[in-house]
Amino acid sequence: MNDTIVLKFGGSSVADNEKLKVVADKIINMYNKNNNIVVILSAQGKMTDKLISEAKELAKDVEKREMDALVSCGEQMSAAKLSILLNSLGYKAISLTGWQAGIYTNNTNENAIIQNINTERILKELEKKHIVIITGFQGINENMDITTFGRGGSDTSAVAVAAALNAKNCYIFSDVDGVYTADPNKIKNSKKLSALSYEEMLEISSEGAKVLHNRCIEIGEKFKIPIITKSTFNNKPGTVISDIIEENTIKSIIKKDLSRVSIVGNGIIRNIDAMKSVLDIIDKNKLDMLEFDVSESKISVTFKNVVDDEILEEIQSKLLEDEKQYLNV
Ligand code: ASP
Ligand code: MG
Repeated sequence: MNDTIVLKFGGSSVADNEKLKVVADKIINMYNKNNNIVVILSAQGKMTDKLISEAKELAKDVEKREMDALVSCGEQMSAAKLSILLNSLGYKAISLTGWQAGIYTNNTNENAIIQNINTERILKELEKKHIVIITGFQGINENMDITTFGRGGSDTSAVAVAAALNAKNCYIFSDVDGVYTADPNKIKNSKKLSALSYEEMLEISSEGAKVLHNRCIEIGEKFKIPIITKSTFNNKPGTVISDIIEENTIKSIIKKDLSRVSIVGNGIIRNIDAMKSVLDIIDKNKLDMLEFDVSESKISVTFKNVVDDEILEEIQSKLLEDEKQYLNV
């Protein structure tokens, strides 16, 4: 069998018919390179929000089982639409729901854990050279009830399916073109990272950066599936999240809850210069520090007051000064 590649597209990438055409083009391109293609889709645009608020208009307390039955429809719509489009373009595609794709979960509605994936149906379709499109964010429990994985859970569907198929890699396409050294909308000198370790990405996510559903990084790490985050709408190289053996570059500066700043990078615990630089900046700016925490790949500083973005800019330019070779600007 050829290499299998999993491609996941987020809600803003499939928001309308025009965008679905861009997505179909990307898929066809990779399919024509002789790959087995499995696609995982999110619901279109703000569809999940809309379904949730409509349910809440009907009842104050919505049963979780019924909420899952409802919100899982969003992904079924986008998967079927993409399949219709690909078929009309002459590429045989098939949409599968969570249960059709063999995604079995525990019984925790709205936050289910994937227990096992029976890949039989997916493999059968791939052997027929079909493009397999699977609804993200959903599976089925032992009672044959639909379950969902929590908001943003399609990322987890994608990496879990990639793991079950032993795929070459898992692309996560969205409207951002990768992971940045800091929030590019707020911190001026932020740059896109070309590579990160799973551990670094987990630290970045745990500090509140909403790049990926946390659980997908854990699955990627466990099953050694490289995760590549890329934009749907340009061809720039994205960020590869994989195993990195022995490398000690500072990767990211993040602010959480307005007064906590974290600096992430493999082996940062041994980087005395970095710690000194951070302390110098704190001192120079006369900031009131409550806590200074260091772990294997993260320095976190909690301040008494709100920290201005300029401080993050200063930390970033000081600590990432010599690291330009690791970044694709
Ligand atoms: N549609 C779901 C959500 O909006 C799952 C996802 O997009 O990953 O949270
Ligand atoms: Mg998402």
